[in-house]
Amino acid sequence: GQPVRLSVQVHPYAGNRRMLLTRDITALEQAEAMRRDFVANVSHEIRTPLTVLAGFVETLQNLPLDAQERARYLALMSQQSHRMETLVNDLLTLSRLEAGAAPPANRWTPVRALMAQCEDEARGLSTRLSAQGHRLSFTVQADSEIAGVSTELQSAMSNLLSNAIRYTPGGGEVAVSWRLLPDGRGEYAVRDSGPGIAAEHIPRLTERFYRIDRSRSRETGGTGLGLAIVKHVAQRHGAELRIESVVGKGSRFALVFPVTRLRQAPQLSVAA
Ligand code: ADP
Repeated sequence: GQPVRLSVQVHPYAGNRRMLLTRDITALEQAEAMRRDFVANVSHEIRTPLTVLAGFVETLQNLPLDAQERARYLALMSQQSHRMETLVNDLLTLSRLEAGAAPPANRWTPVRALMAQCEDEARGLSTRLSAQGHRLSFTVQADSEIAGVSTELQSAMSNLLSNAIRYTPGGGEVAVSWRLLPDGRGEYAVRDSGPGIAAEHIPRLTERFYRIDRSRSRETGGTGLGLAIVKHVAQRHGAELRIESVVGKGSRFALVFPVTRLRQAPQLSVAA
């Protein structure tokens, strides 16, 4: 990588006083270390499914397998390729969000439409992950619209909901709600009856690839990038991400949006 330059300089106009200008390089060093960690993490995340895939290909080439065994191997290979695809998609989303300009503030997206899409995805995921599913509920207390980029809003909301489902055992409760706070801001919240998160982990959850339960994350198709994406979408929309959790009881993730308005009733044209 690039060496970190700039530490101490003699100011050319300081005359005889030879003024020294120092610049704190810790921030630069930290940024560089984070970049190195990120590259190492990405490489590892891609190498794991690739190794598994290569192993299956070799098995298929070298072992005389019957049709049923072949089908089983092919299904596992397809699973690993999907995992890599999801990871690469999340990485692209994240880098787009990090590079992007502030979103236009004047596009209005109805909360009900966002919630409907969340609900469809959630029901599918819930039945895929557990035979009995989850007790899901969706409540919209005020028919509102949020200012921002609807695909980003959708992705942030879906990420919080899919986490709640993925980390809450089957039969558990997941409640999704939208309401206006007394100060006029709009709050999207996902509450679950899952395992909860110990306080020391909470400040680090939005770091890329930070996971508490690695195996649960993998088994349920996690990339470790979901909450990093949520954080960036929140920042771009001036929204606040609130996380509350009690170990053994459950968690509550909320996004509080500053710019919302009540949905305009459709104009009725009355025939004379
Ligand atoms: P992942 O793809 O691993 O779920 P995320 O960035 O979405 O990545 O989440 C980071 C970590 O935060 C997860 O690995 C998990 O340990 C924890 N987590 C997120 N949501 C919940 C939740 N609702 N309940 C318990 N743990 C959670």
